[in-house]
Amino acid sequence: MPAQVISGKEVAADIRAALKEDVTQLKQQGVTPGLAVILIGEDPASQSYVRGKAKACEETGIYSRVIRRDESLTQDELLSEIERLNADSSIHGILVQLPLPKHINEKAVIDAIRPDKDVDGFHPINVGNMIIGDECYLPCTPHGIIELIKRSGQNIAGKHAVVIGRSNIVGKPVSMLLLQENATVSIAHSRTADLGSLTRQADILVAAVGRPHMIGAEHVKPGAIVIDVGVNRIASGKLVGDVDFEAVKEVASYITPVPGGVGPMTITMLLKNTVEAAKRLTAVQ
Ligand code: NDP
Repeated sequence: MPAQVISGKEVAADIRAALKEDVTQLKQQGVTPGLAVILIGEDPASQSYVRGKAKACEETGIYSRVIRRDESLTQDELLSEIERLNADSSIHGILVQLPLPKHINEKAVIDAIRPDKDVDGFHPINVGNMIIGDECYLPCTPHGIIELIKRSGQNIAGKHAVVIGRSNIVGKPVSMLLLQENATVSIAHSRTADLGSLTRQADILVAAVGRPHMIGAEHVKPGAIVIDVGVNRIASGKLVGDVDFEAVKEVASYITPVPGGVGPMTITMLLKNTVEAAKRLTAVQ
């Protein structure tokens, strides 16, 4: 039997509807959650992500401020902009769209954001608290992945989860969150020997690499839950994941599509963190 498709679009719509109600209630108490996004340069993908974030804020009732600066912005100027937002009480969440121009040090920028406004969950304090399992803002894509698996109705505890990819924004944090959900976790990367023999042991397989269709049916254990994080534009202009969806859906029990899987969850979790930040910073529940 072909796998059931976990629709990130549908799950995201459910969560956004609940967030909209939360925002309405916050507004009745005099608080409008606010998100500031800083976008530097003209990178078309970044521009499109930022447009998507602003639109999603608008639809949910969140105030969104997009600060656009050109590539010539210096690191000091960017840090001053962040300082202003750190002190601005109408802004509860701050996000600097990555990647940054080469002359700006990404770590210095992330470190400058107030941890209690770091709705991307990239500040070392949030990363540390996530690993400890303390209160923090969870990084959006990994958090979205966990929500998708939970919404499939399947238990994570006790399963063997194999995560392919070890980036700071996806692979490492999703591995930690799966561990917190009591999965037994293996992390694969470009130096992993015999990837297939590892992935074929996975009850939950998360592919976060950025290589179109690298995971075929032969990599997947029958009945596995397969989460495809990859977003790759192929020569035809089509967006595809790291997983060969058509082949793998014949083997897996649950699978996420690309587009319409993990992608819509990432922005949704950003909205969730922003609403949470507004509650925490104003002590309004
Ligand atoms: P990175 O390029 O930072 O990391 C890719 C990881 O894949 C690395 O850890 C790398 O290993 C590993 N890798 C590369 N080649 C292989 C291979 N042949 N076998 C096994 N592992 C390999 O990417 P990101 O984590 O930032 O993103 C991954 C994908 O997810 C991309 O397609 C990106 O566009 C997408 N993405 C989607 C999001 C969404 O919202 N849908 C959000 C964020 C990312 P090593 O560390 O050894 O180099």
